[in-house]
Amino acid sequence: MTRNALAPLMAEAELQSAILDACGYLGLPVMHINDSRGQKATGYPDLCIADYRAETVRFWELKTERGIVSPNQQEWLAALGACHRVDVRVIRPAWLDQVLEELGRGGVRVATEHVGHDCGGARVTRTDAPR
Ligand SMILES: [Mg+2]
Repeated sequence: MTRNALAPLMAEAELQSAILDACGYLGLPVMHINDSRGQKATGYPDLCIADYRAETVRFWELKTERGIVSPNQQEWLAALGACHRVDVRVIRPAWLDQVLEELGRGGVRVATEHVGHDCGGARVTRTDAPR
């Protein structure tokens, strides 16, 4: 029997467990929110996988074969899907004015410094303090 034959019977937790196991075997950092309801992240996808091998951040909402994507989940998926870049930075208080200005104008960093592999092996770009 193939996995596809079992798909209608698979619970979301089993699907999630299989993917989390795979991420573990592959050494991919993954974040999972058990239940985003009631938090400021209602509808946030179940998994955020930093697939550094594919240079891709994956946001995956897991559902059973008949599971329904909620409006909040649809909103998150649409917003994340519209993003063509991932901004990965360590933000420090000294840069607050600059990052708030960036957010306000929908722009990207003014000055950057590649930090390299100083964040758990992930490639990180740091924004310098305004000059
Ligand atoms: Mg789900």
